[in-house]
Amino acid sequence: MQYDFAIVGAGFAGSVLAERLASQAGKTVLLIDKRPHIGGNAYDCLNEAGILIHQYGPHIFHTNSPDVFAYLSQFTEWRPYEHRVLASVDGKLLPIPINLDTVNNLYGYTFTSEELAEYFKTVGESVDEIRTSEDVVVSQVGRDLYEKFFRGYTRKQWGVDPSELDKMVTSRIPTRTNQDDRYFTDEFQYMPLHGYTKMFEKMVDHPNIHQMLDTDFNQVKDQLSFTELIYTGPVDEYFDFCYGKLPYRSLRFDHQTLDVNDYQPVSVVNYPNDHAYTRITEYKKLTGQEHPKTSLTFEYPQDEGDPYYPVPRPENAALYRQYKQLADEQEGVHFVGRLGTYRYYNMDQVVAQALTLYKKLVGAESLQEVAKSE
Ligand code: FAD
Ligand code: UDP
Repeated sequence: MQYDFAIVGAGFAGSVLAERLASQAGKTVLLIDKRPHIGGNAYDCLNEAGILIHQYGPHIFHTNSPDVFAYLSQFTEWRPYEHRVLASVDGKLLPIPINLDTVNNLYGYTFTSEELAEYFKTVGESVDEIRTSEDVVVSQVGRDLYEKFFRGYTRKQWGVDPSELDKMVTSRIPTRTNQDDRYFTDEFQYMPLHGYTKMFEKMVDHPNIHQMLDTDFNQVKDQLSFTELIYTGPVDEYFDFCYGKLPYRSLRFDHQTLDVNDYQPVSVVNYPNDHAYTRITEYKKLTGQEHPKTSLTFEYPQDEGDPYYPVPRPENAALYRQYKQLADEQEGVHFVGRLGTYRYYNMDQVVAQALTLYKKLVGAESLQEVAKSE
């Protein structure tokens, strides 16, 4: 069959575009993924014990975009959830992002918020230009807190020192002088009530969308017939690595189910300094599920494996720009998503990016129609 669009990747980027093109523009879509399921990295499923887990690590939805929230709300109900994370440092479990309680409980101080702000001024290092992920943190909270909470975690997670990573990586984590211990402060913070996969199933359940799972696009592309291509896989792979490999950081997930009801005080505990893993997630505390057992995931960062994180460094950005130029020159091929545009994007940013591409695609088409009718 001839499809209007072939879409490679059934994660957020691919599924949003499939949904829009099929349901709003009446297009026929072939949605291909090499994994045996839809949802991309946000895929969740019941494990052998019947506990809902995230196969590719914890996914917490948060956004400041009313448009993204309204769009996804068509496909799921929500469960209000504000994410809180503790970091295991010097034998204590302390709030991260660093806040008033983190500092007081770590050092045994009794600072007020005003005193903590003054303290940060005295320990913060003066940095001429904030360029790296080290600069961000040492300038705000000084070297000791940087070393205790950020240096080890970042080295483990990225395989390089924070001084070699773009400032945007640790800038994701704010510093607070109050007692707010939420990980995110976005206006909308929810988990999909019945999980991400159920939400994706609703999105792509349309007669115009044909799913082809467990299929690598590269193996079948010569047998497919389509007018335009949307590609959400790694952009360097699409071009056969012609300029060299774009670095991605991978993870190994160790999923475990324990015969205890409760394992840790919050859904995620970070281990910046001890162990080879970075964090432990306890899913029931994210999803609200009640179950006599509990399921955990330990995350072990590694270089090899599925590409999970683009690595924000100046030389990688330069390499990506070469691929981007090539991508822009392709007729009828559109690159989108975290891997397709080599961006360290959260789910909501990918949804927004996909909705923007959709508008461009249908906008371009209506322009063509106008041109034809003239
Ligand atoms: P993906 O979900 O990666 O989908 C791309 C799909 O393309 C994959 O399913 C892949 O199998 C498929 N594919 C690639 N190549 C081919 C090919 N050749 N043929 C066929 N199929 C192919 N974001 C948040 O907002 N909150 C969080 O808490 C959060 N936590 C995260 C935790 C981890 C461990 C990770 C790795 C990411 C996290 N994210 C989080 C980010 C989130 O996962 C991404 O923003 C989002 O899933 C990206 O969607 P995507 O469609 O761009 O890519
Ligand atoms: N980070 C850290 N210590 C922490 C939490 C985060 O050093 O306890 C740094 C680390 O470099 C991490 C980055 O901040 O990769 C962004 O953290 P986030 O939780 O946003 O990472 P993600 O959920 O995307 O893996």
